[in-house]
Amino acid sequence: MTTLEVATDRGLAVEDPSTGETVAHVPRGDASDVDRAVRAAAAVAPRLRAVAPADRGRALRTLATELDGAREELARLETTDTGKPLSLSRAEIGGCVDYLEYYAGAADKVHGETIPVGPGSLAYTQRVPVGVTAHIVPWNAPLSMLCRSVAPALAAGNAAVVKPAEQTPLTALRFAELVAAAGFPDGTVEVVTGLGAEAGHALASHPGIGSLTFTGSVATGRAVLRAAAEHITPVVTELGGKSPQIVFADADLDDVAAQVVTGFTANTGQYCDAGSRLLVERSVADELVARIVARTDALTLGPGTDDPDLGPLVSAEHRARVLDYTSIGTAEGAVPVGTPRELPERGYFVAPTIFTGVRPEMRIATEEIFGPVLAVLGFDDEDEAVRLADATDYGLGTGIHTRDIDRALRVADRVDAGYVMINEYFGGTTAVPFGGTKLSGTGRERGLVALDSYLTLKTVVTRIAGGQQWNS
Ligand code: NAD
Repeated sequence: MTTLEVATDRGLAVEDPSTGETVAHVPRGDASDVDRAVRAAAAVAPRLRAVAPADRGRALRTLATELDGAREELARLETTDTGKPLSLSRAEIGGCVDYLEYYAGAADKVHGETIPVGPGSLAYTQRVPVGVTAHIVPWNAPLSMLCRSVAPALAAGNAAVVKPAEQTPLTALRFAELVAAAGFPDGTVEVVTGLGAEAGHALASHPGIGSLTFTGSVATGRAVLRAAAEHITPVVTELGGKSPQIVFADADLDDVAAQVVTGFTANTGQYCDAGSRLLVERSVADELVARIVARTDALTLGPGTDDPDLGPLVSAEHRARVLDYTSIGTAEGAVPVGTPRELPERGYFVAPTIFTGVRPEMRIATEEIFGPVLAVLGFDDEDEAVRLADATDYGLGTGIHTRDIDRALRVADRVDAGYVMINEYFGGTTAVPFGGTKLSGTGRERGLVALDSYLTLKTVVTRIAGGQQWNS
């Protein structure tokens, strides 16, 4: 990690959440660092745009190979930085390689269309790179969230400036080294570490940005949109969620129990699409909750390097926030079920918590907690299930569990959510668009549709001299 350390008191300390110890310092970048990064990216952007698309794809494939070769190193770095279990870090880094390979294949398939405007004329569109893209990244899946938007931005022919979260900047810095090792010219991916209100704000308000992707909380999303409005910078917002898993009585309850537990505890509940609400048909509620409690009690918890089921939360501050919510749940009259457990003395651990007796208007039923906390609500019929599913300001993921395909597709059609998963929570791949409705954000990442966020459409209309004209 020595290459990442800076010997300066102005640096930001980076902690291992499993121990609370400082493991590195990174620069606290400010507006002048952001400006330098954007200028460097802008300087190389015309060169990147001029690369033949197939060669761009080859370059991204080389970068994918670099990342593949550094998989274990990156996974360990991610675990040190976030506390997440090693096997989860390995899976996320594997996902980063997937993003790069997928968009490498897409690089030479970005084309426009011709539009019939009549004889003697020609109209066509081109999808051209915006130049410099900005990426403000959260701490919950640092390299995965970075690659999710940077890979299509590069495939589209842009240079990128990245601001990782202050809690978890290490893999972004290593990524920039791998970009250089893959042969991309200087300035292709600039990483500015620093605080959100300083480096993040400076990036969101910079006039040299052609498109900005923000992944993070709703409150910060609003601040970023306000800052970007000054220069009419288009923004993709990937924000929070309070995603429901809807379980009908005919579902395979043992399989569902496993999926619900994964849904609310994976990454210690710190996924935007965590299945943090269980909506269950009342006739099977007690039976399903008993199975979920048994599975949750069996989960192991410990430092990420020991590869447990659950690592710590990312920081002391975030742990305090999650614990606050569990107190609020109890104060609101919800009932925590499950067996109390001992937590490691060091590190930012919390026990997974399942609340029954939850009413739809409770804060634990409507607000994103971003920790391993499940709110259980009952329903009697399909209408009530849909009503409850839509009873938050978010619209990110929705899980539907039933053996009745007609009902599954009916409910999928009715719920207000950007991403619906039937009988498979966290299903989908890089090829499948992902994003939310309502406060969960705008725009889509993953899939071919994501390329459009990093391109602008140019239309060319021409008269062909001597060509046949309308009415002639
Ligand atoms: P956050 O909003 O606190 O921070 C996200 C990023 O924004 C960080 O890099 C931070 O430094 C930066 N930032 C903070 N203030 C800023 C400002 N004023 N201007 C510009 N940048 C600023 O979010 P977080 O706590 O790091 O991440 C957790 C949130 O992210 C959760 O709400 C989660 O649901 C969401 N998330 C969403 C998705 C998705 O795809 N929808 C994916 C992952 C995480």
